[in-house]
Amino acid sequence: MDYVVARQRMVAEQLVRRGITHPRVLRAMATVRRHLFVEEAFWGRAYGDYSLPIGEKQTISQPFMVACMAEALELEEDQRVLEIGTGSGYQTAILAELGARVYSIERNRALALRARRRLEALGYHHAWVRVGDGSLGWKDKAPFDAIVVSAGAPAIPTPLIEQLAENGRLIVPVGDLQSQVLKKGTKRGMTVRWTDLGDCVFVKLIGEQGWNG
Ligand code: SAM
Repeated sequence: MDYVVARQRMVAEQLVRRGITHPRVLRAMATVRRHLFVEEAFWGRAYGDYSLPIGEKQTISQPFMVACMAEALELEEDQRVLEIGTGSGYQTAILAELGARVYSIERNRALALRARRRLEALGYHHAWVRVGDGSLGWKDKAPFDAIVVSAGAPAIPTPLIEQLAENGRLIVPVGDLQSQVLKKGTKRGMTVRWTDLGDCVFVKLIGEQGWNG
């Protein structure tokens, strides 16, 4: 299988056709080798229009959803982004390709260690993965220019708003266990302006500001 061609097709057919336009996001999606973030048995399906299992009952997100969230984050070079739900590390790599300094939290230790090793091996030296409850954010490293939550929350986790910088963007799926709405908040002074980006389906955010395990 020619993975370069598979990635180009993924970008053209799944992303551009659905309205992703940001050139740096499209370039990052065409660059990161998604197949290296799943087990070899899934390599042939790595550029399909779906999420895939990554073990521990978790999934690597659908490429369109990763691109959609990356675009909505409006990242500039060297900005600091907090990612909640590292999973395979694929989205972490996309954010790093965009030039961001990525702080990523994963509650599942096995996934976190695997993702950290993978990102190091691939040369992403501006991405840091730690084990923990990301629903509480990463207070020591705040404030963040952007925060992205890759798991569905029952409500907006308030610590994340507190840890956003001025003009910071928060992307978070909010809803019930079956489906959520992808919300984008932009912080201006003491207020946050919210917009809805569309419907989505994520695994649940488990933690103090999420669902019970
Ligand atoms: N974007 C990831 C990727 O590209 O592989 C996939 C993320 S997966 C859909 C959601 C992840 O969130 C799972 O790995 C899950 O263990 C993690 N998670 C759930 N609740 C969490 C929490 N409170 N803190 C950190 N990670 C959490």
